[in-house]
Amino acid sequence: MSYSPQPGDPISALDTPSMIVDLDLMESNIQKLMSRLLPTGVSIRPHLKTTKSALLAKRLVAAGAKGGCVAKLSEAEVMCELGFDDLLITCEVIGEVKVRRLVDLWDKYRNLRVVVDSEFGARAIDAEIEKRGVQGEMLLLIDLDVGLHRTGIQPGGAALQLGRCVRGLKHLRLIGVQGYEGHLQHVHSFEERKEKCLKSMKILTDTAEALKEDGHQIDVVTTGGTGTAEFCASMPGVTEVQPGSFLFMDTDYRAAIGTTYSNSLTILSTVLSIQGPRIITIDAGLKSLTTDSGFAECKTPGYTYGVLGDEHGSLEWEEGDESKALNIGDRVEMVPSHIDPTINLHDVYYACRKGVIEEIWRVDARGKVQ
Ligand code: PLP
Ligand code: MN
Repeated sequence: MSYSPQPGDPISALDTPSMIVDLDLMESNIQKLMSRLLPTGVSIRPHLKTTKSALLAKRLVAAGAKGGCVAKLSEAEVMCELGFDDLLITCEVIGEVKVRRLVDLWDKYRNLRVVVDSEFGARAIDAEIEKRGVQGEMLLLIDLDVGLHRTGIQPGGAALQLGRCVRGLKHLRLIGVQGYEGHLQHVHSFEERKEKCLKSMKILTDTAEALKEDGHQIDVVTTGGTGTAEFCASMPGVTEVQPGSFLFMDTDYRAAIGTTYSNSLTILSTVLSIQGPRIITIDAGLKSLTTDSGFAECKTPGYTYGVLGDEHGSLEWEEGDESKALNIGDRVEMVPSHIDPTINLHDVYYACRKGVIEEIWRVDARGKVQ
């Protein structure tokens, strides 16, 4: 195959659609997050569900992060294999097959932590370790519902009962609590987001205290995303935050939290066809840009994107501004509306600086949803 873009090539050497990263902006996002959060003393365990890249995970650690989070076991398998094994799996590991896979992985890489929100889940992992005759205790966190109502046991008596159950299991060691307030990440008002977040954090830290009073050693209280990490970090008792999207951002986050972090990732696309005086078709549709959080936006303001199917999208502009006119063969950069599932549509990142490809990274855990 003759198509093989290389570091040193200009962006114009890329075919489209291509996922491109502005390295200056990405690096500045990392610096900003670290300079805001490191002085608070909390650990930063970035969520790798966004980047799905072991290389970026290692760069985040070099910049001050302490390990990483993954959503899924299959992401953990990929990260460990690529030499990044300080991981918290933030989704419940449920089902015989998955529990077997988990114990396989843990047997090899002991630095894994998992969450549970049920006795069923905890007992299944413990029983599998016992069955294998593997030595040691897996590090476990209780996943608490702090208002998202997605996963997580209810605070109060139910959480304490789960803690007691775990205490009785030979192969599990309770080290902390996770409570993710995902429903608050995109609350637009700063004050409202902060107030609601601190209320969720109170539920989380009160439960951590109650578990301590019940005799557990709770070292980890982990929470937060890009929209709330700073509020979480200001809450006494929180020890760790899990932001992910800050690295690249998206239009949904920008609308909610403003320009603290920059949109550093775009989908480079080509104009294929002219469909009217002020409407053209580009080669980025549903297979290049997700739409669950609204439509992507053109990096250059003044255009409206629409979906024309799997492979196509439209760009329209207002009458009267001739400078907006696009022609067949022109290239545009589209800013994703929701970064995590958009990245999962692409094989590679082309990391660029000042118009030149500097590095090419694989989306290592692309498609790893198990
Ligand atoms: N923690 C958990 C448990 C999550 O599910 C997510 C994202 O959905 C995050 C952290 C990271 O959030 P964000 O990408 O909004 O920074
Ligand atoms: Mn997301």
